[in-house]
Amino acid sequence: MATTAEHLKCKECGRTYPLEALFVCDFCFGPLEVAYDYEKIRRRATKERIALGPPSLWRYADFLPVNSKPEVDLQAGYTPLIKADRLAAELGLRKLWVKNDTANPTHSFKDRVVSVALQRARELGFEVVACASTGNLANSVAAHAAASGTEAFVFVPANLEIQKIIATAIYGVNVVKVRGNYDDVNRLCTEIASEKKWAFVNVNVRPYYAEGSKTLAFETAEQLGWRAPDKVVTPVASGSLLTKIHKGFWELSETGLIRRKAPAVHGAQALGCGPVAAAFQEGAEHVKPVKPDTIAKSLAIGNPADGIFALEVVRQTGGSIESVTEQEIVDGIKLLAETTGIFTETAGGVTTAVLAKLAASGKIYRDDETVLYITGDGLKTLDAVAGTISTYEIDPNFSQFEEEVLGDVLKGAGK
Ligand SMILES: *Cc1c(COP(=O)(O)O)cnc(C)c1O
Ligand SMILES: [Zn+2]
Repeated sequence: MATTAEHLKCKECGRTYPLEALFVCDFCFGPLEVAYDYEKIRRRATKERIALGPPSLWRYADFLPVNSKPEVDLQAGYTPLIKADRLAAELGLRKLWVKNDTANPTHSFKDRVVSVALQRARELGFEVVACASTGNLANSVAAHAAASGTEAFVFVPANLEIQKIIATAIYGVNVVKVRGNYDDVNRLCTEIASEKKWAFVNVNVRPYYAEGSKTLAFETAEQLGWRAPDKVVTPVASGSLLTKIHKGFWELSETGLIRRKAPAVHGAQALGCGPVAAAFQEGAEHVKPVKPDTIAKSLAIGNPADGIFALEVVRQTGGSIESVTEQEIVDGIKLLAETTGIFTETAGGVTTAVLAKLAASGKIYRDDETVLYITGDGLKTLDAVAGTISTYEIDPNFSQFEEEVLGDVLKGAGK
């Protein structure tokens, strides 16, 4: 069935373009975004039809810019939405859910955007896929390329966590470590993209890639019983995810699947790379690029492509963008793990710490229905917390266990 997408549309001047591998407007250099025929979606996408779909993001194919579902696919998405009562109590809240996107095939939300980008790239006839990555995108592109037998080139900053490099190279793709930060990697990839007929998922097919993030909003609404929460808290790197969660909820109300309501969108950044948070706090119209310096490497984009649009969304919905320190990030990882059983990477530490801050400052109230987006797995960034854990070590001896372990636990000194 042909896609419900109509054309690409410039976010700045509104000019339209065909559904090809285009990403900037020829006239004003604004970014292009996919525009849909919502009447067509409204007729096709009923709750019943969605419920009969696969338990993956492809159940929302009617809202995505592809003509068909992929034949070979890792079935990303449809991750658990978990009521987090213990975390809520800790923060003085009552209605909190965690959307656990660590449960994706390569353990981050990037599987959503890559699924859609690669399917569209296939439809457009590309034979080689590539990406500029802060880590998780590399994992995901490599895995999806391996699954479908597609040639892939993955570019990452040379100082990336070893876990993420191994979890990419294992798929047998070409991994290129670039001596520079993500913004340098991205510049190089934009140059290569103009020379080679490759689908760079977050460069020349970025408009399709970005649409994959909407499925986080669709799933949240469906899992809540077809309604939107009052507030959402989501991490910000390039700003794309934040804007697409908003677009997802908007599309559901536009097509009549939920009652009209725009959740307040709150964004989370690390203080060590918080250009969008800084612009929000200063009330600025522009986002000033920064040089990233944070353990939250998957969010370390100093010059965020969609920063300005993320600002627009939070201002329009009554949200905010906050930033947190490196210590708060580690504390956030531990708080989430100890109260929900979900171990997140540093990006989720940022998001959890920002939620704690919003609850403490009253920007999120006790009775607000809030959804926290946890976008990546803790096993990807073990070094960030390796120095903070405590364990016991004993000989295989009962009295030693009683004295050194139980004695310590009973004194309340143990964990
Ligand atoms: C990429 C990423 C994000 C945010 O991505 P945007 O560039 O803002 O769309 C958030 N969390 C994790 C773990 C990521 O890998
Ligand atoms: Zn334009």
